[in-house]
Amino acid sequence: DDNPEYMVPVAVKNAVFSKVPPEPMVGNTLLVCSSHDALTDLLELDPIVAESEEFLNFMNGKYLPNGSLTVSHRYGGYQFGYWADQLGDGRAHILGEYKNSKGELWQVQLKGSGLTPYSRFGDGRAVLRSSIREMIGSEAAYYLGIPTTRAAAIVVSDEHKVLRDKSYCGRMRPERTAIVARLAPAWYRLGSFEILHKRKEPELMKKLMDHIIKHHFPEIDALDEGDKYVKFFSEVAHRNLDMVATWQGFGFVHGVLNTDNISVFGLTIDYGPYGFMDRFSTYYVPNTSDDLGRYAYNKQPDIVLWNLGKFFEAISPILTEDQIQRINEIQSTLKEYVTTKILKTHLMKFGLSEVREGDDKFVEEFHSMLERTMADYTTTFRQLAEVEPSAMTDAAALDSKWSLKKLPESSNWTEWVKKYTARLEEEHVTEEIRIKRMSKVNPVYVPRNWMMQEAITEADELSFTKVRFLMELLKKPYEVNEEAEKLGYSSEPPSWSYGIKISCSS
Ligand code: AMP
Ligand code: MG
Ligand code: MG
Repeated sequence: DDNPEYMVPVAVKNAVFSKVPPEPMVGNTLLVCSSHDALTDLLELDPIVAESEEFLNFMNGKYLPNGSLTVSHRYGGYQFGYWADQLGDGRAHILGEYKNSKGELWQVQLKGSGLTPYSRFGDGRAVLRSSIREMIGSEAAYYLGIPTTRAAAIVVSDEHKVLRDKSYCGRMRPERTAIVARLAPAWYRLGSFEILHKRKEPELMKKLMDHIIKHHFPEIDALDEGDKYVKFFSEVAHRNLDMVATWQGFGFVHGVLNTDNISVFGLTIDYGPYGFMDRFSTYYVPNTSDDLGRYAYNKQPDIVLWNLGKFFEAISPILTEDQIQRINEIQSTLKEYVTTKILKTHLMKFGLSEVREGDDKFVEEFHSMLERTMADYTTTFRQLAEVEPSAMTDAAALDSKWSLKKLPESSNWTEWVKKYTARLEEEHVTEEIRIKRMSKVNPVYVPRNWMMQEAITEADELSFTKVRFLMELLKKPYEVNEEAEKLGYSSEPPSWSYGIKISCSS
């Protein structure tokens, strides 16, 4: 569209950022929770800081460090396959960048901190529900081993509420507003480039690309001039494919894989209606508004590839013929790259580290047995390490394992166990090695939607015990925790939680 201005209240031109101050929330500010590790390891703050008035003011956008310049980022994006034009940080403010003693750069961003030139029809606020989901999701993903942005803390207003979802009575439900502080090396997305392409601003795009390479990819900056953009594309592509491979392994579904939600750093960003699946389903869709299942579990790798294609298209105007040719070649290898990466990830969940002929079938068969018997994805793998392969066809041996119990109901089970046993022998995987490998990649706990829902319900009453407990627990997702066991966090999910879906409104 050559004249898209009518779609947005403000069409920003020739800029990557807009200077704009955060707007503090109304009411008293309370700390919901903080991430001890994000504060200490990344920002090198004494965790006691989180208890201070000054920190609450900082989180609320009231106290800004001396000389800080707060900005909102301009980007566009393809949403559900269609170009959505200018989006941008409609309720987020980047406060600045901290370079820690390890030399890492961490940009601190408040989300839910008020109106910006990119707010369109939104109110600039975030609700407590979605802020808690973002905080728990990103910190948990980090400890699981998923490449991700981080979160430092959440504050909530004790009085201010905004309207979001329609309840089943057709009335909007007032919800508490909150601000979450997120951390990333920077917040550039594929959409950061796309907007400059669609608005025909190639000089600015070149400037942006050069800046990102110089500031964040020193190993690429050291290359010959003619190689930099090619290598940058390759890096963005491979990092994002590595990321999606980890998602597939954990049964994580992002929910809204629009190009504006894909970081150039290959980090999971924008935890909205995401989900770690309970019962295994290749078509799992956590987002209520994704009717067609565009972003379902089994679609994620192809969607990331599609998004990378859009990224290539966006940067083409600043590439030479030769560079385009070379990126075409790289692109033609990506599908196989991610397929192999995902297969390896799945094999490791069985304690297998090599890829052999027929392994894709072997994994597929297991998944379809999970699907047919409605087995729990996370716990099945954990419990599979707790039974020796020779006992796996013995129903009595599986009886005490709630997620394995149903597997023998599947007609292929005995055959599959035979294959598994043979496959382990081929690779000389001893039982000791199998258990060791499996317990490193198969978590006991993931942030299941039902667990977060309970914590959110409690937090709505300004009581944060469950949120804080989840934050602590998910720092060690591979270890059994007595307290969590009492709460049933690795037991069969409660029946009310089956098919939980999450709305996009946040
Ligand atoms: P998301 O689906 O969270 O990635 O958001 C898509 C776009 O909508 C981004 O440009 C957001 O900044 C913007 N947005 C979402 N919620 C709000 C809100 N409450 N106020 C202003 N902008 C919003
Ligand atoms: Mg987004
Ligand atoms: Mg969002």
